[in-house]
Amino acid sequence: MLVYHLPGTFETREDHLDLLWEAGATGLEERAGLIRAYFDTQTDLPADISDGEWRDEADQDWQAEFKANLRPVPAGRVTIVPPWLRAEVPSTQVLLIIEPGMAFGTGHHATTRMAVEALSALDLDEQTVLDVGTGSGVLAIAAALLDARYALGVDIDPVTIPIATENAEQNGVPTGRAAFMVGTLGDDLPGDVVTDGVFDVLVANLYAELHDLLVGAYVGHLRAGGPLILTGILVSKLPLVHEALDREGFTDVQVRTDGDWALVTARN
Ligand code: SAM
Repeated sequence: MLVYHLPGTFETREDHLDLLWEAGATGLEERAGLIRAYFDTQTDLPADISDGEWRDEADQDWQAEFKANLRPVPAGRVTIVPPWLRAEVPSTQVLLIIEPGMAFGTGHHATTRMAVEALSALDLDEQTVLDVGTGSGVLAIAAALLDARYALGVDIDPVTIPIATENAEQNGVPTGRAAFMVGTLGDDLPGDVVTDGVFDVLVANLYAELHDLLVGAYVGHLRAGGPLILTGILVSKLPLVHEALDREGFTDVQVRTDGDWALVTARN
């Protein structure tokens, strides 16, 4: 397998990704400070992306390797694991099983981990929780396992809904406690007969520009005084999120970071 190793990340080399595709890359991956571009044949590359190195790598079962390297992810009171590692979770922790698959949200990304930690720091007993951009369902399921009365996960990508539903079943969450539907804010949330569209807690792992667009809708779906948990935010994009929260009158804004990623909590 022919792989071109280009120093940098998708963020630092954003302007160069198109050049890789135009040069014939069949796939791009970011790993350990490198962009790995897969090619069928070695080719001359433009000057802007010529600082990399061609490697002929032995074919590997990347999926098997990825699965073998997964470890349990502690996040506050919760530990997130794939099904085959469940026995490694101490009984003092809330066990959250997520099957690694096609939807984002195994817990291995800093944003997911920080969001589960933020949920775990709240008293969710009898609370309702809206999870915008649910992916694997991990945040809605975490909320249900942390005693929320009802968690609704919405996602614009229909592929995620059966995956999230299955993950909830795998965790023994009763159907009435967690529900998942295709959609976003501004939709009527038609599957949501429990809350009338207004929730005690709103969590969203999206990205800064989308939080900026959706922040008005967050107000509409969050009860007055309810905590808002936003992540998926690059530290460099924090000012955009601060401005958006100020604009809508959110207060008590607090930030925590993990590497390049930030999580912001606030109240309306
Ligand atoms: N909640 C999971 C987690 O924390 O690991 C997954 C987060 S993943 C970064 C973002 C998810 O948001 C994706 O599944 C994507 O399809 C979904 N998404 C993107 N834009 C959206 C929007 N406007 N409304 C709802 N979901 C959206």
